[in-house]
Amino acid sequence: MATLEVECPVCEEILELDDQDRAQLEVGDVIVCDSCNAEMEVTRNGEGEDFELELLGVLTTCPNCGEEFDVTEDMLAAAPVVEGVDGEVVSIVDCPHCRARIELAFESDEQEDAPQL
Ligand SMILES: [Zn+2]
Ligand SMILES: [Zn+2]
Repeated sequence: MATLEVECPVCEEILELDDQDRAQLEVGDVIVCDSCNAEMEVTRNGEGEDFELELLGVLTTCPNCGEEFDVTEDMLAAAPVVEGVDGEVVSIVDCPHCRARIELAFESDEQEDAPQL
């Protein structure tokens, strides 16, 4: 059984989809990354490697009001980035519900190629 490996565009976790998973997926379905909760919409699901995903956003729960919301690439692009003392880089986004400022950290391996966002 062939397994397709899809790299999460946010955290670079490899998501494995076997034939059975692929058979149940249709264009427009949403896959959620186990590692970072990124939501990706299936935009192509053909044979073999003919598979494409489009990043919708990262489902985040606000620690202040408990509401869930999607952090999109646009929001991240506009978000200020702060580097902490331990070198961890976090992005600051506003909760759309209560306007709390939320720090988001995405794990990525600094030694590898620059993330292709
Ligand atoms: Zn991920
Ligand atoms: Zn909130």
